[in-house]
Order: sequence, then structure tokens, then C-alpha cells
Amino acid sequence: MRKSHSPSNVGAMMKTFHSSPAMLNVPAKNSYRMVILGASRVGKSCIVSRFLNSRFEEQYTPTIEDFHRKVYNIHGDIYQLDILDTSGNHPFPAMRRLSILTGDVFILVFSLDSRGTFEEVQRLRRQIIECKMCLKDKTKEATEIPIALCGNKVDRVELHREVQAEEAERLIAGDANSAYFEISAKKNANVEEMFRALFSMAKLPHEMSPALHRRISVQYSEALHRKSFRLRRAKEVGAFGMVSPLARRPSVNSDLMYIKEKVLGRGQAREREKCLIQ
Ligand code: GDP
Ligand code: MG
Repeated sequence: MRKSHSPSNVGAMMKTFHSSPAMLNVPAKNSYRMVILGASRVGKSCIVSRFLNSRFEEQYTPTIEDFHRKVYNIHGDIYQLDILDTSGNHPFPAMRRLSILTGDVFILVFSLDSRGTFEEVQRLRRQIIECKMCLKDKTKEATEIPIALCGNKVDRVELHREVQAEEAERLIAGDANSAYFEISAKKNANVEEMFRALFSMAKLPHEMSPALHRRISVQYSEALHRKSFRLRRAKEVGAFGMVSPLARRPSVNSDLMYIKEKVLGRGQAREREKCLIQ
């Protein structure tokens, strides 16, 4: 039976979405952040749009920093994926560093018709590795960071290619947790494959990829968390996910807590605090 749309019901749903992961009963270990980085106009927001609602926007709208949240029920377990769609300019370098530090998985985007944007992803990749090294045991390899390197706008390469596939492949050669994809957000070419590979490298459920779960709308937000619904629907569907309509970017303070608790572990948090934003 369909749920009614009375104002009080809608209010309750909105409240659910506004809540913290703890109130949503998303265990911290099931909460992840995907960060999309690259120069301006390479197609970052269009890739995010493909991920969230399979749409493509021809018109360019500059991004300052967009935050989205997707909540999943995958075989009865709740997962949360936060998506940080960054601006290409980054007027505040400390904010970019913070975005990198909170990221669990990364999409690095350049445009195949612009060499300058490829040079930018080279810099960004170095920065990701440096930032993550600051948090980790320095003897460990930095190759544990899952990165999908995307050469976007492959629909334009016939006439306008400025970056060869071999150059991009060379950039990530030997890194088991990076993969290179030539994609088109416009034509929806290779986008799904890229997400699947990224989640696989990150050891996240492959059902997080757009084509591998059923999308449900906001009217079912409460039901997503109800155990009986979860178990019954999980059997029928396996995995379903919903875009949170009112997700807001967590504060800087919340980000710092996230880094401390998730990446460092409570014990080491104080020692490494200086590393976080410099
Ligand atoms: P962002 O600044 O990196 O977020 O770039 P946007 O996602 O806003 O896209 C910038 C421009 O490139 C927009 O006008 C898009 O329509 C266009 N665009 C994005 N992806 C593609 C693609 O795969 N092919 C082509 N031809 N244009 C694209
Ligand atoms: Mg954008």
C-alpha cells in the first residue's frame, strides 16, 4: 500500500534525511565519501549527475562545492555515500586539503580535449598521495587510495584529442588501486564501468553503482530504515538506494572529527592533529 503524503509525513521524512549518520543508523564503517576533483569545465558535475539521476546538463553552471548524499539498503545493510563535487578553482587550498583528507574514494577528471586539464590531474594526484601519506604510516605504500582517473568527453576525441590514452595509463602504471577510463558523461559511455571499477577497488559493494540497485524515491525514506521493510524488500530486490534531498555539507569541525575517528582511530588522533590542515 502506498504511503500518504500528508504534510506531517513529509516533515518526518525530511527530518530523517537531515539527521546525522548515527540517527540514520548508518554504522560509521558503512559511511563513505567520494570526492571528485579536476579542473573547471572538465565534466565533474555532469559525472555526478549521471551517478545520481542519469541526467546530462548541456549548459555549464559553475560549482562552488556541491554536496550530495546517497543512502542504500544493500541486502539488508544500510550504507551511506557522501559525494563531494568540488570546484576546479579552489580559492581556499586548505579546504581542498580537507576534502582530500575526508575522501575514501576519488574520481580525478580531466578533459581529453585539453592538455592543461591533464596536467592538473597530475598535480591533484600528487596532492592526494601527499595528504594521505601525512595520515598514514609513512612506510606504507600510497597505492591503497582508490582512484578512478577519467578522461572525459571521449565523444570529442576524433577531432579534438589532446591527451593520449597511453599518457594517462602511464600516470597510474603499477598502482593496483587506480584505473583509467575514457568516458563521456554526455553520451553515458563507460561511466557505469568506471563506477563499478572504483567501488571494486575500494572494496565497497558493487551494488552502489547506478545500474546495480533499484532507485527508490523520497516517499520511502522512512521505510528504508524500517527493519521489516528492509528484510522483505532486500529479499525481493537485493539493493536499493535513494538520493537524500536535503543533505548539507558537514561543517569543517565534523570533517575533522570524521578524519580523526575514521582514518586515524581515536588513539592516534591527537598525535597527528598537526598534519590535518596546514
Ligand atoms: P565541471 O566544472 O567540471 O563540473 O564541468 P561540468 O560538469 O559543469 O561540465 C562543463 C561543460 O562540459 C558543460 O557545458 C557540459 O555540458 C560539458 N560536458 C560535460 N561532460 C561532457 C562530455 O562527456 N562530452 C561533452 N561533449 N561535453 C561535456
Ligand atoms: Mg562543477
